[in-house]
Amino acid sequence: MDYSYKCFLCREDELRPFFVRKEELSLEDGCIVRGRRVVLPSTCTEHLLRELHTLHPGIVSVRFTARSCIWWPCIDNDIEEMVRSCFECSRQRNTPTRLTSQSMAMGHLAMGEGTC
Ligand SMILES: [Zn+2]
Repeated sequence: MDYSYKCFLCREDELRPFFVRKEELSLEDGCIVRGRRVVLPSTCTEHLLRELHTLHPGIVSVRFTARSCIWWPCIDNDIEEMVRSCFECSRQRNTPTRLTSQSMAMGHLAMGEGTC
């Protein structure tokens, strides 16, 4: 059994995600960072999520962008919840991709057809 988590500070669920990652956290220019990602306080996460989600790029794109620069506990869950609860994202997800003559030609090339 691992007793390394038995710290009185970590009895609080709010601090546990930071404690379990304490080896990955450091201080740079007055900011807490996890690797190359800035650790955001909970007071900033909602605003940042809205900024990342402004163009409704979809869950994969929002996660990719977030993972490149910011972190907070449960960030993936927060992103997923925001995108899944967004009407515009839902509308875009349910809109079938329009086929064009160019995309159809690319499909033929990918299947080995149309090449001489
Ligand atoms: Zn959206």
